[in-house]
Amino acid sequence: MKYWKKLSHDEQDIIITKALNENIDYKQNISLGIPASLLDPFVFYDQATFLKDAPLLRTYIQNPNHIGCHTLGDSEVFFKGTQKLEQETIELICVDIFKAAPDTCDGYIASGGTEANIQAIWMYRNFFMQEYLAQPSEIAILSSQHTHYSITKAANLLNLKSYSITVDSEIMQIIASKLYEAINTAKSNGIKYFIAISNMGTTMFGSIDDPAVYISALKKHNVQFKLHIDGAFGGFIYPISDAENRINFSNPYISSITLDAHKMLQAPYGTGIFLARKNQIEYVYTKEASYVNGMDLTLCGSRSGANAIAVWMILHTYGPYGWLEKINKLIYRTDWCCSELDKLQVTYYRHPKMNIITIPASHISSSLAHKYGLVPDTHNTEPSWYKIVIMDHVELQHLNSFINELTKEIHATTLQ
Ligand SMILES: *Cc1c(COP(=O)(O)O)cnc(C)c1O
Repeated sequence: MKYWKKLSHDEQDIIITKALNENIDYKQNISLGIPASLLDPFVFYDQATFLKDAPLLRTYIQNPNHIGCHTLGDSEVFFKGTQKLEQETIELICVDIFKAAPDTCDGYIASGGTEANIQAIWMYRNFFMQEYLAQPSEIAILSSQHTHYSITKAANLLNLKSYSITVDSEIMQIIASKLYEAINTAKSNGIKYFIAISNMGTTMFGSIDDPAVYISALKKHNVQFKLHIDGAFGGFIYPISDAENRINFSNPYISSITLDAHKMLQAPYGTGIFLARKNQIEYVYTKEASYVNGMDLTLCGSRSGANAIAVWMILHTYGPYGWLEKINKLIYRTDWCCSELDKLQVTYYRHPKMNIITIPASHISSSLAHKYGLVPDTHNTEPSWYKIVIMDHVELQHLNSFINELTKEIHATTLQ
């Protein structure tokens, strides 16, 4: 670990206080031009005594705007203290979690995984258009059938075709021959450039795509491509639970990654993370954004700096070992639940290093699924699957009550 370490509450407070002091102080400085201020003090009382122990809440009150991207070029000087902590957070995640060499990546705290995925596809579309003079009609997205719908949104917004690749429903892996065929079909439809989205933890199954399947198929076809990892769900789990895995920046083909801090990291909603190797994010530069200091390279405009501080605090409160313990606890609970299901001979899909268990709906009555808050794969028709996601609040005792009721249900039906 180069940057990631555990810090006490007091140590964090000192660093955040210093950062807040480097931001604009509207009470001390005269600032006539920026359309920003503190949270409305008439509504949000800023003299409450508990604020002195709560650096995140003080950040909310000070309300820094982190508009733009702070890993390159200039940024708004008004909020440079907290923007520096965002930049350090991005660098920490790139280097210490995703094995990038220091100072080789850009990134920013986005509003969520959806934005980060759209940002990636937007960046690659423009890359192909600018570098290869490609038409949007010559660029397509490739991803598995279990890919998150944000990729469909991106295809729609950016006017790109997308090809969905069938997955083997036993092992939940992309069927290489289907991918090969899809690339063939795409080529015959005039596609010359590909943006492959490889999942690190699909939303419904927690399955992990093997990016090598995309790389080898696209190389065999001898076409230009870019490869993005959607780690919105698995990005803060899988690199820790399977530390030897190579789905990270040590793989030269992987050029950007999405994470969500508001899922496993339990940060406030509105906190996604976009990471990209250097010299790419410039392809989405909006030169018309001339009133903003620095380059506008992000899909969203103004955004709260408090979200960056929240991510920084979570990572530094746990430190790498605390986070490893937390992930292992969740993996342990998942293992436990799986072994109980095995005893009941209930089948399911689970990636061994992930915390999602997806059970065929035929094993569970809809009332039991409803009672325990299991999530179906569809709300529109009869579900095929229900999933259990072992988050922090899902404890063994809860899993145990579910297993007990499932056992009763299974016995009752076998007696009929
Ligand atoms: C949740 C999720 C997203 C979208 O994230 P939001 O934060 O809801 O925008 C994208 N991809 C995957 C795999 C996800 O699980």
